[in-house]
Amino acid sequence: MAYEASVILVRYGELSTKGKNRKDFVNRLCENTKNQLKEFPRLTYEKTYDRLYIRLNGEECEAVSERLQRVFGLSSFSVAIKVESVLEVIAEAVLALAKKETGAKTFKMMARRHDKLFYPDSDGINRHCAGLILANTKMTVDVHHPDLKIIVEVQRDFTYIMAGSIAGAGGFPVGIGGKALLLLSGGIDSPVAAVLTMKRGVWVEAVHFASPPYTSEAALDKVKKLAGILSGFQGFVRLHIVNLTELQLAINQHCDPSYTITILRRMMVRISEKIATSHKCLALVSGESLGQVASQTIQSIQVINEVTNFPILRPCISMDKVEIIQQSYKIGTYETSILPYQDCCTIFTPQNPVTKPTVKKALYQENRFDWQPLLQKALADMTTLVISTQEESKDYL
Ligand code: ATP
Ligand code: MG
Repeated sequence: MAYEASVILVRYGELSTKGKNRKDFVNRLCENTKNQLKEFPRLTYEKTYDRLYIRLNGEECEAVSERLQRVFGLSSFSVAIKVESVLEVIAEAVLALAKKETGAKTFKMMARRHDKLFYPDSDGINRHCAGLILANTKMTVDVHHPDLKIIVEVQRDFTYIMAGSIAGAGGFPVGIGGKALLLLSGGIDSPVAAVLTMKRGVWVEAVHFASPPYTSEAALDKVKKLAGILSGFQGFVRLHIVNLTELQLAINQHCDPSYTITILRRMMVRISEKIATSHKCLALVSGESLGQVASQTIQSIQVINEVTNFPILRPCISMDKVEIIQQSYKIGTYETSILPYQDCCTIFTPQNPVTKPTVKKALYQENRFDWQPLLQKALADMTTLVISTQEESKDYL
């Protein structure tokens, strides 16, 4: 008899720390999982107290597994063969699975009875199955570092047999922890910051500041593409696009060159706070990493932060560039992030941006021109797109 993998057994993530929120956690995780897998219409789902069972019904197991690895809140999953809960049937399926894993030289049996009435107990199941494998293959037992872990979960009507488990993305299901507004540039860091924030269960909305015609349409397309990749982790991303040209020209005209970047950043944060408020986002998120560039010294961060009472989450703050790049490879944004483009921060870049700005001096620079109407205008002219990987991008009404 051929034993085909027919079910994926999903284990929930950091539940223990969420206590009473368990139900919300599980519901959200299941919703997010279904959403992530909506390209596979034949899948069916069964949710239990500590597991989600996804029946493949002929869908491609590898493709489904790949998508599952993007779902936050999922600690691990296993591809399983489902058989009747009868010892001989279980043992036969275990042997078939062991024979398939031709690369493995050693194995370990890991049986668990959810149905305590099943005879024999887990030790007995392990011994019976191991005996059969030892007698019919060249494999030996290694309980410490086996090449192949054979997991057997005996339930009342059915038993699931699995070859080890695949690590999930961990964290919390996106959306369980409120909403934050990401300042999304076209660079490497902010998309990484986005995904790290999503991983903690926070739904991410994004704002991008462009300065056309100094920044190109291609640069904007790149940001949309990044938002599209990010949407793969939460379904869709709402992207607000703010035109900063007039404000930026005014800053460059009136402020000391060493302070233009600092002032520009303060304006970005002020605008972002307004968008966050109207879109019910409880925090801002940026890709800043301490010490990386002039505007990311602790003094700069303090001066930029001074314009808002909102928390600004900076998930990359202590990461080295190399670590951030590794993450960006992993989430699939690197190739897009490194495409050449002109960011609004790189146009008119001053020769010597201040590395230790002060609030007093920043305020002095800002008092040299009437920036409020320009800020209001930038906000009023904002456009918003809803971007998802399914539908490229559509206007948001
Ligand atoms: P990134 O790789 O994310 O662009 P970076 O190392 O280039 O970061 P900066 O350009 O100094 O650093 O930007 C720091 C952070 O400010 C970015 O991570 C992003 O959150 C925000 N930011 C910068 N430019 C923009 C922009 N044009 N639109 C929206 N946010 C921006
Ligand atoms: Mg940048």
